Amino acid sequence: MGPTYQMTLVEQYELAENVVGFRFSLPDKNFQFIAGQFISLQIPWQQRILKRSYSIASTPVLAQHQGLLEISVALVEGGRASQYLTNMQPGDQLEMAGPYGRLILPEQPPKRIVLVGTGTGIAPYRAMLPELRQLAQQAYQIDVVMGIRTPVHLFYHQEFTELAAEFSNVHYWVCFSREISDQLFVDGEYLHLNDCYNQKKGYVQTLLPELKLNSEETIVFLCGNPAMIDEAATQLQVKEGFSVKQVRREKYVLSTN
Ligand SMILES: Cc1cc2nc3c(=O)[nH]c(=O)nc-3n(C[C@H](O)[C@H](O)[C@H](O)COP(=O)(O)OP(=O)(O)OC[C@H]3O[C@@H](n4cnc5c(N)ncnc54)[C@H](O)[C@@H]3O)c2cc1C
Repeated sequence: MGPTYQMTLVEQYELAENVVGFRFSLPDKNFQFIAGQFISLQIPWQQRILKRSYSIASTPVLAQHQGLLEISVALVEGGRASQYLTNMQPGDQLEMAGPYGRLILPEQPPKRIVLVGTGTGIAPYRAMLPELRQLAQQAYQIDVVMGIRTPVHLFYHQEFTELAAEFSNVHYWVCFSREISDQLFVDGEYLHLNDCYNQKKGYVQTLLPELKLNSEETIVFLCGNPAMIDEAATQLQVKEGFSVKQVRREKYVLSTN
């Protein structure tokens, strides 16, 4: 393990039902990462340290300029890190190691970039927003695909909706696995559906064939639920001719300790 950093909790806030956002301040501005990477939190638990990974949901610029870092945590019933984190108070400190992970945009991506995330698996793409905006300006075609159970579980929705509204070559899809609605309750307000995003009923895997991806000129990112990632990766490789390298993955596997 490389160096560790002592972070201080600035605040925690509800992002959606059972999803909490945490904002930490970093000890100095030397902590550097690439959008898409994750950190490992060292959770003190009954005389032991539990290591739990969380994707960085904020941009590298926020870390460099303001010394701040955000994560989003889907609360797990009886989950130890879930309990420890939600019991933290502003000013409390927490040790972190990292950054880790290869779910990062290539320097020269192919023409089309497809970013698929289930639940908090959307977080790394939020960290990429400034880069995505730059790529969109250069005419790359970008699809952000969010897989979520119901509208009350949506978060970071506004930011992706705005990106899609700004660029006709960016498409934002939301796949609801349980419930679909013509109104969305986001950030305390009902939003009516507009042209900026497309909603679907079903799992993200069922949307992929509809995107008509050309494996010659596309890279796909898959993040979140391990079962979704296995299924989607197999589908892309077996049915759509993608190579292993063209499908980047970050599985949110459960910890065994
Ligand atoms: C690379 C990586 C990145 C990750 N990024 C994120 C992230 O950005 N946000 C995030 O919320 N999580 C993320 N995770 C998952 C996270 O690391 C923890 O596993 C999760 O928060 C549960 O930890 P816990 O200590 O609260 O639960 P534990 O105490 O480890 O688990 C308690 C019980 O709940 C079960 N359980 C644990 N997780 C789930 C689940 N998701 N669904 C159903 N049952 C479960 C366990 O099997 C166990 O029985 C990531 C994991 C990896 C490997």
